[in-house]
Amino acid sequence: MSTYIHDTINHLRQTSPAQDEFYQAAEEVLSSLRPLLDRNPKYQKHNIIQRIVEPERQILFRVAWIDDRGNVQVNKGYRIQFNSAIGPYKGGLRFHPNVTAGTIKFLGFEQIFKNSLTGLPIGGAKGGSNFDPKGKSDNEIMRFCQSFMTELFRHVGDTIDVPAGDIGVGGREIGYLYGQFKRLTGRYEGVLTGKGLSWGGSLARTEATGYGAVYFAQNMLAERGDSLEGKVCTISGSGNVSIYTVEKLYQVGAKPVTVSDSNGMIYDKDGIDLQLLKQVKEVERARLTRYAEQRPGAVYTPAEDYPAGCNGVWSVPCAAAFPSATQNEVSEEDAKTLLGNGCICISEGANMPSNQSAIDAFLASGIAYGPAKAANAGGVATSQLEMSQNASMLQWSFEEVDAKLKRIMENIYRTASETAKEFGAPGNLVLGANIAGFRKVADAMIDQGVV
Ligand code: NAP
Repeated sequence: MSTYIHDTINHLRQTSPAQDEFYQAAEEVLSSLRPLLDRNPKYQKHNIIQRIVEPERQILFRVAWIDDRGNVQVNKGYRIQFNSAIGPYKGGLRFHPNVTAGTIKFLGFEQIFKNSLTGLPIGGAKGGSNFDPKGKSDNEIMRFCQSFMTELFRHVGDTIDVPAGDIGVGGREIGYLYGQFKRLTGRYEGVLTGKGLSWGGSLARTEATGYGAVYFAQNMLAERGDSLEGKVCTISGSGNVSIYTVEKLYQVGAKPVTVSDSNGMIYDKDGIDLQLLKQVKEVERARLTRYAEQRPGAVYTPAEDYPAGCNGVWSVPCAAAFPSATQNEVSEEDAKTLLGNGCICISEGANMPSNQSAIDAFLASGIAYGPAKAANAGGVATSQLEMSQNASMLQWSFEEVDAKLKRIMENIYRTASETAKEFGAPGNLVLGANIAGFRKVADAMIDQGVV
């Protein structure tokens, strides 16, 4: 490991202890930057590395709320405003029991470079809570969201910081958060994205991350003279990103055969029944066992029966895989299984789904590997399109937004691919995406002085 990476990670371990996911994300980005730093001493002269790994501001707060039995519950709330060199802070909120400061920090760090890569003027941030929405009533979700916003409102604004959804935060939660923001401030402004269509939301925002991950895969394959048409695809997760990845895969003539949740996975050899999946996950908010009950040909495997150290989804043979659930869901073993089964394309809908050994295996194999910060950037890009519509008080058609999303994904692919070539690593989109995302933010930081 180069000295600057080693020294930076060591420093982070000492000053921000017990944040393994954050060190993992930082190491992945820093490892790609060597060729850029060698060519441009200015980044070291301005000490950009040490500055960029330190968030501009971290807000930690108590979220107290009352459950349906009248008991007082307490959760932790976070908003980490990581970098505002190229625009107002932007990034989702995650509600999941595993959320720690380290989770939010890794997500916020990734967000800086992802947002930069979109070509749009947005800084990087992330937030959330260790609150578990599963099994909670609508009223409990509402009271939690209201309490969360009662602190958050003083730190956000349409030109300051614009949160969105992530795991556990969808249209329902954004609605409750927005209602409370409006009540506390009296302002009707685009402070959140992922809003409902009748109160400031953008058409195609719900679909954007999943559609974008498929567009990204299409771009990678097109350069190799190939396409997704007729290809069997595997998808993990069954939330927002997964559902709209499945939808777009059907639209481009591919065959998605798996989805999963934290309890288990579905293998549906005839192709996932999209309407049934939406009914189970978006309407009933049920587990995937419900899908299996209603679809006789589908096989359900509980997570306890996955091979040791592996995710069962990746043992289903496929030509293209779309990890779309959570971080570190693709291990080295999983990567070897995917490659052994002839997989030629990975497009990451989730954030940091592959661990470092899995990434190394994909890169060494030379397959089309689309890293998260490039492949799933369609979600935040469309959030920025929602901000633009709010600022101009206009609403664009679905086709207009989708066409812009498609163009943005193509540009992201080109930028990552051309930057990889520029730095002598053609095809390495990890290096290309990291250098391109970093360079723009670092140059803006230098222009704006030591702040
Ligand atoms: P979501 O709608 O809440 O769905 C998350 C899905 O992943 C659910 O099926 C969930 O299963 C599964 N999952 C979550 N944690 C898991 C774990 N520890 N083990 C196994 N399965 C797990 O969230 P989402 O918006 O689709 O986000 C999925 C991923 O995409 C995340 O990594 C997120 O950061 C990334 N992403 C999202 C967006 C966006 O616009 N939404 C944009 C860019 C990136 P359970 O229901 O059992 O928990």
